[in-house]
Amino acid sequence: MNENSTSSHAGTGSSAALPDDFGREFITLTHQTLSDAAEALGDLDRRAGDGDFGTNVRVAMKGAAKNIDDDSPSTYREWVTAMYMGWLGVGGTSGPLFGMFFRDVSKAGADDSAPTLEQFAQALADGQATVQKYGEAKVGDKTMIDALDPAVGALREAGSSDPAQALAPAEDAAIKGARDTAESTAKRGRASYVGDAAKGVIDPGAAAMALVIGAARAAAAGEKDVDTSWIS
Ligand code: ADP
Ligand code: MG
Repeated sequence: MNENSTSSHAGTGSSAALPDDFGREFITLTHQTLSDAAEALGDLDRRAGDGDFGTNVRVAMKGAAKNIDDDSPSTYREWVTAMYMGWLGVGGTSGPLFGMFFRDVSKAGADDSAPTLEQFAQALADGQATVQKYGEAKVGDKTMIDALDPAVGALREAGSSDPAQALAPAEDAAIKGARDTAESTAKRGRASYVGDAAKGVIDPGAAAMALVIGAARAAAAGEKDVDTSWIS
């Protein structure tokens, strides 16, 4: 990659560039965090759905790891592609939906450089639109949308041009949205079959989405961990 291309940090406002290694850090952290949380996420789906989500997450992360090994990604787009291809290889409702979400996220920015904050935010919004187009979930239906929608909203309103600072309220909003799903009744996916039995249980897909947003913030901040302590 051309090192000189990073010298254009004259960009102000939300066009601030994410770090050069953002793709690698974002996907490595997403992989690590979802793999570590798979057991807890599966437990939520056992209580609020049909119990397959933990397995679906594990299979998706195994697929992503294989793609990373096979393809040795270097650019942002290649890293996120390894993740979306991993999800597209999984069944359930979440496989195709997370797959299409990450495919839209992979399109942020130019071919060979990390996106700007503005481009990344737009890609998250595009991913939300795609998930809602195919999944037909609205806010409040107890799905991943309940974490993603407030995160996209928080990024739109973010006052800071610093990516890590702008992503912090997005992570907070996603976690709050995910936690609030405990109070709602599922209208989509197999969790909708258990109705009020899922009351009090966080939606596992919303929790996973909040971890993805947390991975983006941590990657932008140069941190190596994502907070998962709120999941239970
Ligand atoms: P399934 O519901 O088919 O068992 P998974 O267990 O793989 O699918 O994934 C469950 C998660 O998928 C849910 O926690 C929810 O967040 C998400 N989900 C299910 N249906 C939809 C939908 N129509 N739109 C958005 N997200 C959905
Ligand atoms: Mg399930």
